[in-house]
Amino acid sequence: MKYQCEIVRDLMPLYLDDIASEQSRQMVEAHLSECKECSALFSQMKNDELEIKVKEEKTDVIARQKKIFKRKSALVGSVLAGIFMIPILICLIVNLANGDGLTWFFIVLASLLVAASLTVVPLVAPANKLLWTLGTFSASLILLLGVCCIYTGGKWFFVAGTSVLFGIGMVFLPFAVRSRVLSSVLKRQKGLTVMTADTVLYVLMMLSIGFYTKEPDFFKASAAISLPLIAFAWAMFVLIRYVGNNGLIKAGLCTMLCGVFVFFADSLIGLLLGLSVHIPTFSPFLWNFATIDGNVKWLSLIVGVFLGIVFITIGLIYRRKQK
Ligand SMILES: [Zn+2]
Repeated sequence: MKYQCEIVRDLMPLYLDDIASEQSRQMVEAHLSECKECSALFSQMKNDELEIKVKEEKTDVIARQKKIFKRKSALVGSVLAGIFMIPILICLIVNLANGDGLTWFFIVLASLLVAASLTVVPLVAPANKLLWTLGTFSASLILLLGVCCIYTGGKWFFVAGTSVLFGIGMVFLPFAVRSRVLSSVLKRQKGLTVMTADTVLYVLMMLSIGFYTKEPDFFKASAAISLPLIAFAWAMFVLIRYVGNNGLIKAGLCTMLCGVFVFFADSLIGLLLGLSVHIPTFSPFLWNFATIDGNVKWLSLIVGVFLGIVFITIGLIYRRKQK
């Protein structure tokens, strides 16, 4: 019996694939009808095979749907691009018909490129849709500003350009670095990259404004105001990103830092500007125009430090319990 079991078990895959000879088939069937163990093994095998087949079919269907969706969105994108071409062509003709050559046509072209970057690009881009959309959107927006600046004879291009880039960077860079391409390059330096890029864009913006306004004290004032703020943003980043992994302790440290920053920021900026600095006065029972500044600072210091200590204490207790 044992000997026969082994042979039948060897034959089972052939039987299931329907490639066993007639004689083997009969032997397997006869054996299965009288051997409980082999019969159980057989139904198990049959189930596994079915499951694999269902899985294969499922991924197949999903892949096919994906392909269809891709093709359709590419088609819609092409149609949209065609629709965008209509106003572009009309404006080209009208602007040329004026006889002064192409002038405001470039403004129309650049504006429509901005619109197309947000509608056509995400539909047509084969991969990395987010990066393509963000890249073309930023580029076309900068182009639009440049064209408008040239057309109006202004000198504000760098102020507007760097401000727009700083805004876009602040909002979209955190998402961009999470895209597959950038994520594989940056690995664990995503936060650091965003912070560095935002800081550089901010400095560029400030430099552009300074050179544009030609205000003699601009750089001194902007440095005095910017440095404490940038330092605060970086301190928060370092606390959240690099100091341990206990969320409560981090929250406590951040809360404390916020309270302390609100209390001292004004004085720090004043100190950097060379003004006389005094410690804010606290008059919790007297609220008017003269006391509100000091009161708010003191309250934020007290509440921030108190809540910070509470968070850190709970975090420490939690960590000891976990150990
Ligand atoms: Zn058997």
